[in-house]
Amino acid sequence: MPRYGCPKRMLNGPCGGGSRGVCEVDERRCVWVEAYVKALEKQRTHIFEYPLLDAGFQMVEHEPRPREPRSTLMKMIFGDMKPLIYEVELGPEGSLDEVAETIKRVNEAGFDAVTMTDNPLGAAGIDPLAPAAVARFLLGVEMAVHVTCRDRSRAALVSWLLAVAGLGIGNVIVSTGDWPLLYRDNRWSIHPVFDLDSVRLTYLARLVTDLHVDHTGRRLLGEPFFHVGVVANPYFDPLDIEILKLVKKQRAGAEFAVTQPIYTTGAFLKLVKAARERGVEIPFIASLAPLKSYRHAVYLAERMGVEIPEDYREGLKRNEVDGNIWSYNVEYMKKLTEELASLEEVSGILFITHGIHGGVVDLAIDYAREASRILK
Ligand code: SF4
Repeated sequence: MPRYGCPKRMLNGPCGGGSRGVCEVDERRCVWVEAYVKALEKQRTHIFEYPLLDAGFQMVEHEPRPREPRSTLMKMIFGDMKPLIYEVELGPEGSLDEVAETIKRVNEAGFDAVTMTDNPLGAAGIDPLAPAAVARFLLGVEMAVHVTCRDRSRAALVSWLLAVAGLGIGNVIVSTGDWPLLYRDNRWSIHPVFDLDSVRLTYLARLVTDLHVDHTGRRLLGEPFFHVGVVANPYFDPLDIEILKLVKKQRAGAEFAVTQPIYTTGAFLKLVKAARERGVEIPFIASLAPLKSYRHAVYLAERMGVEIPEDYREGLKRNEVDGNIWSYNVEYMKKLTEELASLEEVSGILFITHGIHGGVVDLAIDYAREASRILK
């Protein structure tokens, strides 16, 4: 398997950062997409369906099974109510007080749970565990925290997962993590870790929470518990690679999946239907992320292959000029929420606003007042 030549040392297929077969880190072809194309020619794509572990794993026999929902979020996902979730994107700015205040406000507005990112683009900010703990203990808010492989070794990841369980946070969302692109001009002087990829981290998380051991089989104190979610990209080209990776993630122990932001129900349904055909049974949460400009929409569509309808793009352009970009976004997202709420394939909605400053939190609150009513 072409782990070597991949800057992130992926062992289980491509990361989510590449675009149309081009590596996220530099301009060369993604070695994993190349490997898939060759396997397709030889009709051997089944080799991409099974999680691969490395020699650092001495616990290799575990086969994680679906579990009874224990966290409030998972009970909602598997129950009659589709949860409305808000994602706080933590950047380098944002104090603990500010983040806690944001969580309090969005929770009061109707969001059922809050997720928190793990240093997007490699820009160090506050560890999401601190505000998550405050929100859970002082405000009683249901939390899910993102964790990436970018900045921690597997030993540090085990410690972090134990802290999650110790704080009573019931859900983690695992991803490989993006390359520290903020430092593009000086990219090789930053040393991201990438000791694991999202599939191996999912498996490690299930070792911790199912068997209460680490990757070496060492018994961990207590009986740590949390549910394990993963990320799914509806725009990966070719989509079958992403679906095969979802098969692996499910085998490694994933219990739910959160999509990258979608702007049409079609993009969501295409992903879920293809996943179901390959035997992926876990629930899917659809993410919505308002765009701040027409230019941003064009960039996502042309560079990342994101499906963005013409009418939404034109609406962004018009309302940018008029200064109504956020209220236009809220109306568009409410309409999309109505369509998604009627689909049985949708198990919840995650609303993402980048940052916690400016009008973005007000925008989320405005959206939540109506969206929570639509989903209930
Ligand atoms: S796009 Fe991701 S998986 Fe592919 S070569 Fe680059 S870092 Fe590796």
